[in-house]
Amino acid sequence: MEKLTVTLGIDIGGTNTDFAFVDISGSCRHKTSVKTLSDTPVEHFVARIHETVDSLLNTADRQYALNGIGIGAANGNAFTGCIENAPNLGWKNAPIVALFQDAFGLPVHLNNDANAAALGEMLFGAARGMKSFILVTLGTGLGCGIVVHGQLLTGNKGHAGEMGHVTVEPNGRPCNCGKTGCLETYASATGIVRTAAQLLSESREDSALRRLPPQGLTGRTIADAAQSGDRIATRAFDLTGAVLGRSLADAVAYLDPEAIVISGGLASAGSVLFDPVREAFEENVCAVHKGNVNILPSGLHPGDAAIVGAAASIWKQK
Ligand SMILES: [Zn+2]
Repeated sequence: MEKLTVTLGIDIGGTNTDFAFVDISGSCRHKTSVKTLSDTPVEHFVARIHETVDSLLNTADRQYALNGIGIGAANGNAFTGCIENAPNLGWKNAPIVALFQDAFGLPVHLNNDANAAALGEMLFGAARGMKSFILVTLGTGLGCGIVVHGQLLTGNKGHAGEMGHVTVEPNGRPCNCGKTGCLETYASATGIVRTAAQLLSESREDSALRRLPPQGLTGRTIADAAQSGDRIATRAFDLTGAVLGRSLADAVAYLDPEAIVISGGLASAGSVLFDPVREAFEENVCAVHKGNVNILPSGLHPGDAAIVGAAASIWKQK
């Protein structure tokens, strides 16, 4: 049987590292996970992945030809090939590209997770065929990847597109980056939890959110309550969507994209998020863009999106 060409896509997270063989259609095969264990040397981590991949290649029911390795990680820098001071990892400036190249002898690309997600959407998801779009991912924080003329916008040192840290409230909430009032302190899973907690403390209105166990307030539980018509949860989404929609209108003034794709855990809330985002966006965007920029959900399977995105930079070269 002819060998099937695949890319090894690796999503490095704080607790687990997920990987799979990604084929030319963006489908994941033999998806596997190992503990990241970033309190142990990064060389051990690479060796464990190498071992697991070798055994997969030897036991799989068909033969694969690896054409490269694509890696996505928070704080992954495509220019240096290092994961730089990631808050969720014990390694400091881990030379991940060099280590994987040495181990596998294949081309290796590293991107930060949001840029990887943008490439994934462009090759296999909601932005397929587009030349310019903005990807925003709403997880613990707000990640952003910008594609212009079919290329990721990297900036001078690989740090372009840090939209999570534009200021939306000059004296607003403290952010992990050291500033105050950054967009991601409002528009992210963590941000909406802060908003909902504030709304609950400011009123006595009944809400399903008041009956949650301690630590039970999460993006997911607020989304569930909003979808059931809970007024405080809905208000939390309205406020979150308004802040995000206004910032997206600003971004469109700079970039004139074809579309904006919103992915990540909070985006799975669907219309309770997308409706207020679209409303605030249309209210605030320049007249020339009104009605012209689609705001779309991710077109990738949520469980595979990070791996597929990581692999996309290798497939993009082909
Ligand atoms: Zn910030």
